[in-house]
Amino acid sequence: MFLKDRTALVTGSTSGIGLAYARALAAEGANVVINGFGDADAVEKERAGIEKDFNVKARYSAANMMKPDEIAAMVAQAETEFGAVDILVNNAGIQHVAPVDEFPIEKWDQIIAINLSSAFHATRSALPKMKAKGWGRIINTASAHAFVASPFKSAYVSAKHGIAGFTKTVALEVATNGITVNAIAPGYVWTPLVEKQIPDTMKARNMTKEQVINDVLLLAQPTKEFVTVEQVAALAVFLCTDAAKSITGATLPMDGGWTAA
Ligand code: NAD
Repeated sequence: MFLKDRTALVTGSTSGIGLAYARALAAEGANVVINGFGDADAVEKERAGIEKDFNVKARYSAANMMKPDEIAAMVAQAETEFGAVDILVNNAGIQHVAPVDEFPIEKWDQIIAINLSSAFHATRSALPKMKAKGWGRIINTASAHAFVASPFKSAYVSAKHGIAGFTKTVALEVATNGITVNAIAPGYVWTPLVEKQIPDTMKARNMTKEQVINDVLLLAQPTKEFVTVEQVAALAVFLCTDAAKSITGATLPMDGGWTAA
């Protein structure tokens, strides 16, 4: 329970990796603010489940990560209730798969806004209170696509390379403030985000579902296994420990060897 009296805000935490981060941080005693879209009853069930399972306070913000004013309001609301956002996890993300010359302009703009710019807006809002407390952890969900590209994912790969650069920059700026800034770069994790891109990849590459899973997704991953959300969340928890205080500015691969190749 080393995070008792800390508050964690996790963007995009109504499903997948984000929900696993929120639950793992709550399991260590942190109060959490979850965020993201989803059916109201399902979201409430997750929020109440965190409170019940871990005996912490859990709040929900419906802030849209495409809207800077809503992001700032979400951070302010968390600070009003809990005093500060001690742990900020910039995780919200979407994907779209299409050749660059057919890539819908609005999808490009959405991906850059949600997967990259939202981390800037949340970070700039949360940092003053972290600096005042002399302690903070910022953890960004990057991707193996922060290091390497795949065809048909121009916006996503650009955003994730951007997140790695943003992580380094902020880490340098706050290096003497007791705040670390890192990114986790998972390979393929079985979540709704991956599941949803299968039909478009089938179309773009003229493949069956099984071919996309084995010959596209797991082809890149030498272990031939999906990463689990629990593994990703466990690394985030480690990054919050004192043992991890010298890890900053890093984008840490957790990709079954993908980017070693
Ligand atoms: P997911 O679809 O399960 O979760 C995405 C979350 O973001 C959801 O809670 C969703 O509601 C939220 N979200 C989407 N648009 C939003 C918006 N405009 N405002 C607020 N919330 C919004 O996907 P996931 O796989 O858990 O992805 C989480 C992060 O992990 C993303 O940044 C993704 O790029 C990254 N990632 C995923 C994988 C993978 O294989 N699944 C691999 C590497 C990186």
